[in-house]
Amino acid sequence: MISQGQFSKCNGHIITSFPANQELPWIGTTRPASPVLSQAAMSADAPTAHSIRATVMQTPLPSTLEVLTDQWIGVGRDGRISEMRPTTAADLADITLPSSSVLVPGLIDTHIHAPQWPQRGAGLDVPLERWLQDYTFPLEARFSDTAFAEEVWASLVPSLLAEGTTTATYYSSIHPEATASLAVACQTHGQRAMVGRVAMDHPTNTPEYYRDPSAAAGIDASRASVEAIRAIDEGRGLVSPIITPRFIPACTDDLLRGLGSLAEQTGVRVQTHCSESIWEHGYVLDRFGVTDTEALDDVGLLRNHTVLAHSVHISDRDRDRAIERGAGVAHCPLSNSYFGDGVFPVSEHLNAGLRMGLGTDVAGGPEHSMRASCGHAVTSSRMLEAGVEPGGDQSLRPGQRIDLMTAFWMATLGGAELLGIDAGLLAVGRLFDAVAIDPTSDAAGRFDQLLDIDDDHRRFDRLARGAGSITNVWVDGVMVVRAD
Ligand SMILES: [Zn+2]
Repeated sequence: MISQGQFSKCNGHIITSFPANQELPWIGTTRPASPVLSQAAMSADAPTAHSIRATVMQTPLPSTLEVLTDQWIGVGRDGRISEMRPTTAADLADITLPSSSVLVPGLIDTHIHAPQWPQRGAGLDVPLERWLQDYTFPLEARFSDTAFAEEVWASLVPSLLAEGTTTATYYSSIHPEATASLAVACQTHGQRAMVGRVAMDHPTNTPEYYRDPSAAAGIDASRASVEAIRAIDEGRGLVSPIITPRFIPACTDDLLRGLGSLAEQTGVRVQTHCSESIWEHGYVLDRFGVTDTEALDDVGLLRNHTVLAHSVHISDRDRDRAIERGAGVAHCPLSNSYFGDGVFPVSEHLNAGLRMGLGTDVAGGPEHSMRASCGHAVTSSRMLEAGVEPGGDQSLRPGQRIDLMTAFWMATLGGAELLGIDAGLLAVGRLFDAVAIDPTSDAAGRFDQLLDIDDDHRRFDRLARGAGSITNVWVDGVMVVRAD
């Protein structure tokens, strides 16, 4: 049983501790405070279906750690938190986490390619355009075989859930059947997901064996996929479609415009790659005479909650356009090390008010753990600040370094705000998507056990990087992973 004060036996020093739901100060510069809940969330008054007693660690804002000791959390039948407050002596809970364990919000992967799951780690020594042609397109083409696809999804989805990824924003392949089966797999395993059939029809930049036969065919297939995924979800809200032009080089003008219209007609979110590499950024400039961001806006694809993967090479003007439209970036630090030709300046864009989540970009990134991605985000920001040339000028990009709390915020609430879902934070009215971590157990051997000199801040830093074993995962109020 957890009791008040027990948490501090690990020399617990609470860095920032506020009662649940209290307005928190923003430590940055211009970012608006506090996420806004939907009407549905605000009216969440469903009776409590079950309860959990646990100590919570979370990041309600960048650079802000909130530690809520020994909370009693009621979860309604609607999957939302109905009550959350310090435990009293009279409280009974259905589940009481061990006193050493920590409950964190579920992790949100805002950019992942489901069909690339089998190729993790391969070909990461070649440029993007070669990697696509030599490795990725031949593999993705195999997903015309739906049985093969189902075999991959049966490995992918549970593996992500076991790593605490409660929401994933998937690119599927171009195949509607395989895409529908991915949505079914997410539904079956209980993962919140946005699932996008990839649209691509460009006669030069995509191989003949793996492309939509025409712009019209691509638009029709995307429309049919939207309808199929909505039917699979049956209004539950767990699995949603997302319109997915692969990236501008892979699409003709007609396809891009048609998908922009489809987004307008259906209200479905959009995801695509944007200014990922110098080659991609330069290609769009050559073809349209404007940047990737501007070109996407011109065809109606830069919309509220549009997820722009990477965006390493966007200008300040691009960023401001994205902010204006309500779009944001899926930052993929490890993948950018291989294919980005640069480091995305998180700190600058975050302070300007750009929505931002974190992504693994499997398999451009070979690791599917979002906690590992948090560590990579910090690492790459430090390289951006300090430079990479030995003996080089280290004062060129001051202020770029981010802390683990900011990385974890991107992996949780930042991602939720980018996607427009009420997850990413444990508070009354929000979806109960959560992960329990036992710091005293480290099955993967990624870190030594935590030390008794660790205070809350140190414990959080190490947990957010991958220390400790994930023992339970809940999505939509339902426990979907439980350690043996
Ligand atoms: Zn990608």
